[in-house]
Amino acid sequence: MSVPYKLRATEKPASEKIPIIARPFVSERAKKTLDIVEKFVEEECIPADTVYQQQIGETKAERWVAHPPILEHLKKRARELGLWNMFLPKNHFKEGAGFSNLEYGLMAEYLGKSGIASEAVNCSAPDTGNMEVFAKYGTESQKKQWLGGLLEGEIRSAFLMTEPDVASSDATNISLTMRKEGNEWVLNGSKWWSSGAGDMRCKIFIVMGKSDPQNKNVYRQQSVILVPADTPGVTVNRMVSVFGYDDAPHGHGHITFNNVRVPLENIILGEGRGFEVIQGRLGPGRIHHAMRSIGAAEKALEYMVARMNDPRKKPFGKQLAEHGVMLSRVAESRIEIDAARLQVLNAAIMIDSADAKFALKEIAEAKVFVPRVALDVIDKAIQAYGGAGVSQDTPLANMYAHGRTMRIVDGPDEVHMLQLGRNENKRGKALLEKIQGYRKKTDEYLSMYGLEKKDILQLDRELSKAKL
Ligand SMILES: Cc1cc2nc3c(=O)[nH]c(=O)nc-3n(C[C@H](O)[C@H](O)[C@H](O)COP(=O)(O)OP(=O)(O)OC[C@H]3O[C@@H](n4cnc5c(N)ncnc54)[C@H](O)[C@@H]3O)c2cc1C
Repeated sequence: MSVPYKLRATEKPASEKIPIIARPFVSERAKKTLDIVEKFVEEECIPADTVYQQQIGETKAERWVAHPPILEHLKKRARELGLWNMFLPKNHFKEGAGFSNLEYGLMAEYLGKSGIASEAVNCSAPDTGNMEVFAKYGTESQKKQWLGGLLEGEIRSAFLMTEPDVASSDATNISLTMRKEGNEWVLNGSKWWSSGAGDMRCKIFIVMGKSDPQNKNVYRQQSVILVPADTPGVTVNRMVSVFGYDDAPHGHGHITFNNVRVPLENIILGEGRGFEVIQGRLGPGRIHHAMRSIGAAEKALEYMVARMNDPRKKPFGKQLAEHGVMLSRVAESRIEIDAARLQVLNAAIMIDSADAKFALKEIAEAKVFVPRVALDVIDKAIQAYGGAGVSQDTPLANMYAHGRTMRIVDGPDEVHMLQLGRNENKRGKALLEKIQGYRKKTDEYLSMYGLEKKDILQLDRELSKAKL
């Protein structure tokens, strides 16, 4: 592997900025790769973002068939640099690049600074989670048919769970029907927010449906099944936008299933095991999103500080950096980003030490906290740019729009908050007893010293008058 980059004299390389708490868990190989990721993103991917946007084209006819050449250029370059499939954690998968969740998490931060870097190194959602599904639960034949192409970055995939007609943050509501007929499953219903479904290279849909609606256990009514994108009866009707951004060429599809037939063996893991599949899929993915969001927040802070020092812009006779409120906003941003990073890295270390289930609490905390931090920092950066901040002249408006979706994607904040709150509240009875225990012990001490319990702020007006 060649290391073609010279380090900039002014900034420490990424490997030297790893928080000290995480350092013992990061191998020398991962540190070297991290530095290469940083340089690749900074020097090749970020400048290519604009080229990518231009190569997608302008018309509807162009944008949904586009495959910008700059992306293939970057993918080739990434492979030369040894940057490929770093997301598959080494303790659970043999197919990846041999890094831990923590090590990849550190790299994902840099990938989050560019719109195309993740795909350039074959680490972009939803393919990452989908590849994990294949690697973890797929049969040999399912892996042979789909996993190879995904690992090579030749095809893309989509995960279809959310539906337009039900509250999908509660997956027991999923209503796409799956009926068995002979050797086939027959699917009917509709899905939306199927990210990646607009891409011409998207060949396989991983679909959650209701296969056993009468099952008394509501968590065993669903199954996850593979549906090739070109199966008759599948129609991608339209794309849904994010604050007006179409996200072409990947997009977010609104898709209908009309008597779609797939073989019985397309089921993943087994009938009625849909919940297991979606839960297994999401843990590490949430950490990846969180680390990319931290990268976006760092980028926003860089933009903010740059704007504050732009000599052409001096409101009220001073540069922004000389207005105290701006420095205070920079400081707040730095504190928030550093705290959020520690939280995500802690969750990643916990996943590495066992599995995602072991880190459920920490993953949920990061899922809620990090997007808030990223949005807050991006918002401050937008403010520093004035009108330019909300325009197409900086990447900030787009970053804000996509950052905002992180509070909804993979389950809205409230669902995670509810779970965190419930778990915390399980201590309620024990805490009540503990506090009563303090009082009891205080009473014992008081009687030991012959004291009566009293409140020194108790007012006794009559006594005060007598003394006067
Ligand atoms: C950019 C983007 C990409 C996406 N990509 C995909 C994808 O690839 N595949 C896919 O299947 N889905 C995808 N989604 C969908 C996403 O996962 C869902 O939108 C999300 O799970 C919420 O489901 P819903 O939209 O049906 O909202 P609902 O379930 O209807 O919830 C609406 C609101 O109700 C509130 N709420 C929900 N539960 C509670 C609660 N327990 N307590 C209090 N309030 C609550 C929340 O404020 C929530 O936002 C994507 C969404 C976006 C925006």
